[in-house]
Amino acid sequence: MERIMPNRLDRAFYKYQDEFEKKAIEVLRSGWYVLGNEVKSFEKEFATFVGAKHCVGLASGLDALWIAFRVLGIGKGDEVIVQGNTYIASVMGITINGATPVFVEPDEYYNIDASKIEEKITSKTKAILVVHLYGQASNMTPIVNLCKKYDLRLVEDCAQAHGAKFEGKQVGTFGDIGCFSFYPSKNLGAFGDAGAIVTNDSEIDKDVRIIRNYGSEKRYYNKVVGANSRLDEIQAGLLRVRLKHLKEMTLEKQEICSRYLTEINNDKILLPRIREGATHIWHQFVIRTNNREDLIKYLDDKGIGTIIHYPIPPHLSEAYSYLNVKEGELPITEEYANTVLSIPLYNGMTKEEITLVVNSINSFMKG
Ligand SMILES: *Cc1c(COP(=O)(O)O)cnc(C)c1O
Repeated sequence: MERIMPNRLDRAFYKYQDEFEKKAIEVLRSGWYVLGNEVKSFEKEFATFVGAKHCVGLASGLDALWIAFRVLGIGKGDEVIVQGNTYIASVMGITINGATPVFVEPDEYYNIDASKIEEKITSKTKAILVVHLYGQASNMTPIVNLCKKYDLRLVEDCAQAHGAKFEGKQVGTFGDIGCFSFYPSKNLGAFGDAGAIVTNDSEIDKDVRIIRNYGSEKRYYNKVVGANSRLDEIQAGLLRVRLKHLKEMTLEKQEICSRYLTEINNDKILLPRIREGATHIWHQFVIRTNNREDLIKYLDDKGIGTIIHYPIPPHLSEAYSYLNVKEGELPITEEYANTVLSIPLYNGMTKEEITLVVNSINSFMKG
């Protein structure tokens, strides 16, 4: 069998090849390449999909995050609460504006532990950034209540969780702003960089539109120092094609993961769990083991690639040494960084590939 990669994007492309190619040619021939009708249509369709009033297409998920904090007026001197075990982009979204991240430990579902947030709230706290990590919706009810109690802004990083729900409500709609990435490997992926914010607040919608285009609403009349975070027509068009198939693509991943959950059986391996009331759209299938190096090598020898999300938590990365959060201060975050492993998961994975992954993990350390 061909080597199994932790992720591959070609299978999903070829499955819908005709539709993608037709759309690409249509956009190429249209003569309009940035912020046009494809972007407008995608924004409408994605807002409808999420169940939000507005969507603004942007150049990346990181832009969605920092622009979110910028329009909320959160920057220097302010603190934003975020989970310790997130992808570093979440933290950069906070610090690009000069705000300070305050890390909270994750729960057993790899999302922020809502019971540990209140003790971190200070007079400087302005917002909570909830990351729906690996595709599972976070425990939103206590978080929404804390935001009300302390008058905090709520921003959601939904880069890994397109369409995930908590108690029937889609992620991205619980607070002020939902931030999405459409980086190619995300569950709703473009063929290059792309991102978006969703919101129910028409002022926020307007402000984000101004910032993404050099701070201008009207061409050459610049109100604020903005950015260039425009979405390309070709990406928006291809995202519209992909969005039409997102439900079935999510179902396919859920079926692969339900096989993993029922068939992987090895006491050296801890499987992911799903919180009651939450849904999981499986951006990653993340297991944990105390024998990670051995397992990586064992699977590699069997032709199976794996990947670690993420080996260095943001507080221990060189980029954030200035925060002075020392090793040992976030023991659960650090333990996860030392033990997590993502096993192969992608649309178009064959039954044989899934079986090989299952059997290989099951035979690990069993002599
Ligand atoms: C991918 C990702 C981002 C950043 O998205 P880009 O489009 O790569 O800028 C932010 N947060 C999380 C949790 C992500 O997984």
